[in-house]
Amino acid sequence: MEIKIFGGAREVGGSCISVETNSCKIALDYGIKLEGEPKKFPTDFDAIIISHAHLDHTGSLLSLSKHNPTVVGSEITRDVTVDLLHDMVNIQNEKGNFEYTDHHAEKIRQSWWTRDAIALSGMKVKLQPAGHVAGAKVTSLESEGKKIVYTGDICTHDTEILRGCKLDTLPKHPDVLITESTYGGKVRTPRQKLIDEFMEDLLRTMDNKGNVLIPTFAFHRSQEMAKRIDTAIEKGYLPRYNVYTISNLAHKINDYYNHYKALFTQEIRKQKTPFRYRHIKHLYRTAQIEEPAIVICTSGFVHAGASLRLLKDWAGDKHNSVILTSGYLPPDSPLKTAKEEGFFKIEEETFDVKALVKQIELSGHADQNELVEIVNKLKPTRTVLVHGDIEQAEALAEKIGEMTDVCIPKQDDTIDI
Ligand SMILES: [Zn+2]
Repeated sequence: MEIKIFGGAREVGGSCISVETNSCKIALDYGIKLEGEPKKFPTDFDAIIISHAHLDHTGSLLSLSKHNPTVVGSEITRDVTVDLLHDMVNIQNEKGNFEYTDHHAEKIRQSWWTRDAIALSGMKVKLQPAGHVAGAKVTSLESEGKKIVYTGDICTHDTEILRGCKLDTLPKHPDVLITESTYGGKVRTPRQKLIDEFMEDLLRTMDNKGNVLIPTFAFHRSQEMAKRIDTAIEKGYLPRYNVYTISNLAHKINDYYNHYKALFTQEIRKQKTPFRYRHIKHLYRTAQIEEPAIVICTSGFVHAGASLRLLKDWAGDKHNSVILTSGYLPPDSPLKTAKEEGFFKIEEETFDVKALVKQIELSGHADQNELVEIVNKLKPTRTVLVHGDIEQAEALAEKIGEMTDVCIPKQDDTIDI
């Protein structure tokens, strides 16, 4: 059996790993790198297992649409992935010629099997909840007497809307564990402490009648954030205020979240339509905002759309706040210099930042302690670290080195089992 790392080695982005036996060849994820040249992956797979709907795990699927693939993943992963592929088609077509159309995105929907277990030639595949985002799965493979577990992106702690991965249900003693290592070198502040901090920042800005901009991605982070604020207002922890979401895609994904509410925590499942918010309005345009307001909107890294418009409008006023909840910021995000240097540039224009710009990392990834616990519970013979910068992977390797053989592969490396 052979494992080959096509993408996501020593970096986050473009995840794709192949597992090949004498009778079968599958891909674990088929992602895209959002920066730099996109990489072409092989197309001759018997099946492509998709761990979850983030584009760094799914974004190359359009290139498979001409090859009649078998794609395997959860229902909500299918629905969100296909929407995100349509979105990608629209954006790329606006920029210029793109070889794929909506038809190719729909082909992926038709190729999708929403099973939790499948049997391929000489290989059994099982998918189990991974935490991280709605519908995310850990993949376990058994073939030729060997066991492989691939975490995809994983989170073992509960969040307000999603249960963490239950490690006790995963196969023990795999021959190989392939795990993400995004935060392999980082131990995070307890989540409740971060949420308290987030609420305090909101309250302070609300007291000053300021505006709060919360840039998020349309999938999961938007729903998690909106539900958190909606619940806080409902329970009286926050006062009533103008709270809006601006993202048609997020609005559509709310419907999936209501439909698949069985995926979420008990508290969420008890509610009839948990993601139809009581204190938050969906808007189509920033011009509809009545200030002061809290606005949850795309794009997540403020490259375009409502979040960029509002950053330009609101950054100059010290009464306003910008709260970013993802840990990572790409170098070309205007928030990067806004946060670190007090200004940002859009084309030739420079904007001074007087608003509070704050990063509160409410991550959906396992931190170092959680990753060590995964290795400790599963007791793999060998552990392959992917989906993490080299410093993060090396820091994790040091922590787990006495429990398992560790390998930090480079792109295109092959691992024989
Ligand atoms: Zn992810």
